[in-house]
Amino acid sequence: MFQSNDYVCQVVYLKILELKKRSMKTKLILFLIVASTTLQGQGIMKMSHENEISDLIDKMTLKEKVGQMTQVTLEVLLKEKDGKLVEPHELDQAKLEKVISDYGVGSVLNFAGYVYPREQWLELVSGIQKQAVKKTDNNIPVLYGIDAIHGMNYTTGATLFPQQIGQAATWNPDLVKEAARITAYETRASAIHWNFSPVLGVGRTPVWPRFWETFGEDVHLVTTLGTAMIEGFEGDDVSDKERVAACMKHYAGYSMPLSGKDRTPAWIPERMFREFFLPPFEAAVDAGVHTAMINSGEINGIPVHTDDFLLQDILRDELSFKGLAVSDWEDIKYLHDRHKVASSQREAVKMAVDAGVDMSMVPMDLSFADYLLDLVESGEISEERIDESVRRILRVKFSLGLFETPVTYPKDYPEFGSEKFRKVSLETARESITLLKNKNDILPFGKDAKVLITGPTANSMVPLNGGWSYTWQGRRTDEFAGEYNTILEAFQQDLGEENTLFAQGVDFDGNLNLVEVKEKAEESDYILLCLGENSYTEKPGDINTLALDENQELLAKTAFETGKPVILILAQGRPRIIRSIEPQTDAVLMAYLPGNEGANAIVDIMLGEVNPSGKLPFSYPRYENDLLPYDHKFTSAIDTENGLNAYNPQYPFGFGMSYTTFEYKNLKLDKDKLNRSEKLNISVEVSNTGDRAGKEVVELYVTDNYASVTPSVKRLRDFTKIELRPGETKTVSFTLDPSQLKFVGRDNNWVLENGEFTIEINNMSDNFNLID
Ligand code: BGC
Repeated sequence: MFQSNDYVCQVVYLKILELKKRSMKTKLILFLIVASTTLQGQGIMKMSHENEISDLIDKMTLKEKVGQMTQVTLEVLLKEKDGKLVEPHELDQAKLEKVISDYGVGSVLNFAGYVYPREQWLELVSGIQKQAVKKTDNNIPVLYGIDAIHGMNYTTGATLFPQQIGQAATWNPDLVKEAARITAYETRASAIHWNFSPVLGVGRTPVWPRFWETFGEDVHLVTTLGTAMIEGFEGDDVSDKERVAACMKHYAGYSMPLSGKDRTPAWIPERMFREFFLPPFEAAVDAGVHTAMINSGEINGIPVHTDDFLLQDILRDELSFKGLAVSDWEDIKYLHDRHKVASSQREAVKMAVDAGVDMSMVPMDLSFADYLLDLVESGEISEERIDESVRRILRVKFSLGLFETPVTYPKDYPEFGSEKFRKVSLETARESITLLKNKNDILPFGKDAKVLITGPTANSMVPLNGGWSYTWQGRRTDEFAGEYNTILEAFQQDLGEENTLFAQGVDFDGNLNLVEVKEKAEESDYILLCLGENSYTEKPGDINTLALDENQELLAKTAFETGKPVILILAQGRPRIIRSIEPQTDAVLMAYLPGNEGANAIVDIMLGEVNPSGKLPFSYPRYENDLLPYDHKFTSAIDTENGLNAYNPQYPFGFGMSYTTFEYKNLKLDKDKLNRSEKLNISVEVSNTGDRAGKEVVELYVTDNYASVTPSVKRLRDFTKIELRPGETKTVSFTLDPSQLKFVGRDNNWVLENGEFTIEINNMSDNFNLID
């Protein structure tokens, strides 16, 4: 198979071999070959600077190496007066000298709390880079990281997209990739080259305050969209000035804390970990992702920052990840302060570095560097171990081309914040918004309608964007996104102010004015009830119940009492329970956190200019304590004596309505016995039987009818989004590879078992048998 100089082919072949065998011996041989090989094209992280890296490491002092492994926040470098940061923020030369020149700190991250214009970013980042590349011993540029998680959300005027949960609802990998490409462009336009995104945790706990940062509850959907996002960020060549290094986070198992609260313990046995949480990370490594951020939490009593099984055996040895693994915020310190596994800060540093952490997001001081230097000097950590991490860090810096181009300039990015980019954001929001109920086809309504808009999410950009928007908690979004439409403004623009009445009703601060709602309802044809959540992320977003707050329920009841048709619009990052109000609504629209174009997209859908095509990327629960995902086990769904069906969500995973109707016919499998070396071809005809063009997600589910480990009732194995004109029929084909039927067996290894499987597409099903 190899031509002597066909290195690319050789490495790809070896990678496949590696995935198949995963034996230690093979891995060692592969590592040696891969490490000495230049790769072209997308797929596996390029390793084309290994000799330069070795030369550089040889020249570096121990102190410099330890500095490379240290990451501080920008705040540590900013000028202060009387204990406060000087406004506008500027670099403090004395601090730069200490942190960058003396300590040789290798990375800086955004201080979560500030949004800057591009020019200010340029000034700050270039000031740091100048110090690093001119006033350090080896002139190593700094790696600057930021959380640009739904567009470059820390630069004024940038394009903000729907948050990941909304992007997931598009079920459209092309849109996700394009949004990521634009984000990369606008991040580079802000002089920054490393993005702490995407979140690849599978969102199995909707109460978790970072649920909306995920692509939802399904492994395949998360894997597909996560890979698309990484490709959008990194492109074929991450040194391209329009691309950034992506960061798969939070490796791994962060997204299912037992209590649902952020950074609380998870219990995930290895088998479930491999089956439900690892695949998106594995695919990300195969897609060439350059960096990883480690899960802040503990799994099975072991803080992930100390878990050499996850960080070494799986991440490095099995997945062959060659990029850098950065800690999460202060997490090494927390090994002592919170997790109580290290009896001192010094021991915490030793545990984390021993386990395989490459870079510490310390981030408020230089203690990590001091402890680590001391640990190596005293022989408790070897210099070889340090070299290993420094190599990975330098690999990312070389890959990004930072040595040649440490800074990029706003002027080279003329499309920043352009109309063209805005349209992609609008399109993403339009494809994400999910119609969950439409009684008597009440939607869309005509432009001559008179509406009353009410509710806490009606007239603010905050609940449309959520956290990580201009500031960490996203509460100041109205200050920075004033030029965009709130839901109220978008309707005023389209229906005219005289036809768009407004009564806030309730707000998130507990204020209540229901009388006004009643009065104004009299004059209107429809009530648009805008409910949901105020912005949040991480610990501040912890809640004790998924229930909607009482005031919002009260507002809903007031709206129903008026007798007018009520259309519920939900702007929220997690599914708040609507069981008691839903039956009285006429329509329900889930908007998620749709970003700066979200309100325009809502109007486009409600007025019928756009036909909705979003599908839920999670099961919308009916009850606070009944949080079952769609791919639960059979025993979860057995009817109990009380006649309760355990999978009884308000709306199921994958659900979403359209203004047209789709008919599915002729599901065909090309064989009823599938040999392991063959592929199964599946086809189905989908027709648009309504009178509007529409997009439809065709979802392919597979059930393993009997297996040695209890199978899920079904698993999404493939999907595609198609567009059909009225009366049009398309035949949709899928090719199923037997490897897609594997599961993690009793011995924690992936296994393929013969037997009967059921294919399901839109309530049609057929069976086949897998044979030898
Ligand atoms: C979050 C990460 C984020 C980091 C840097 C942490 O608190 O958990 O997701 O990337 O801060 O801002």
